[in-house]
Amino acid sequence: MKIGLMGGTFDPPHIGHLLIAEQAQEQLELDAVWFLPANVPPHKQRTVTDATKRLRLVEEAIALNPSFSVSAIEFEREEPSYTYDTIRTLKHRYPEHEFLFLIGADSLVSLDTWYQAEQLYEEVVFGAVARPGSRYLIPRGARVKAVDMPLLEISSTDIRQRVARGQSIRYLVPEAVRQRIEEWDLYAP
Ligand code: ATP
Ligand code: MG
Repeated sequence: MKIGLMGGTFDPPHIGHLLIAEQAQEQLELDAVWFLPANVPPHKQRTVTDATKRLRLVEEAIALNPSFSVSAIEFEREEPSYTYDTIRTLKHRYPEHEFLFLIGADSLVSLDTWYQAEQLYEEVVFGAVARPGSRYLIPRGARVKAVDMPLLEISSTDIRQRVARGQSIRYLVPEAVRQRIEEWDLYAP
């Protein structure tokens, strides 16, 4: 099977993430998309919501799509979860699958700073989408397939800020995610 890997912090998951997965599935002819919430994200400084909660939010976000699933592989160890290690592990565990790594333009631009970037380019082909505010630059050596989607100026950062200001996030995130954020009182100032 051809599997798209949708890595991210998902704090919280939003409709941008879902649209990437859906469009990539169609355009790259993927059999499934696996969401991979990151454990200790190497590129993030701020305090991130508890891993179990983010895992649960992703589960709820994708619940209605039988082709989407979530993997807790990056929570298996204490250390930061590097994409390079994750992909190696997945290829080892599932030698029968072909993996593509899905990514937004903001991540694509800094891909060459990722852990073991050169080796990562050897391991996996990327499926990349444009993102408002980011240039679409393919790092030398990376194999990238373009995935088209409507530009969405939505980010988890903006959603957290809206919640903190008491503003609505309805329709920016799946309804189940919105309710969970309310119930758990996430992102309050
Ligand atoms: P944060 O603001 O906390 O960084 P985020 O919205 O960027 O959150 P992430 O979990 O960091 O979400 O991103 C996971 C992946 O989804 C990354 O590859 C990122 O580039 C991509 N992505 C997220 N939102 C969009 C969007 N609106 N358009 C295109 N790509 C996106
Ligand atoms: Mg981000």
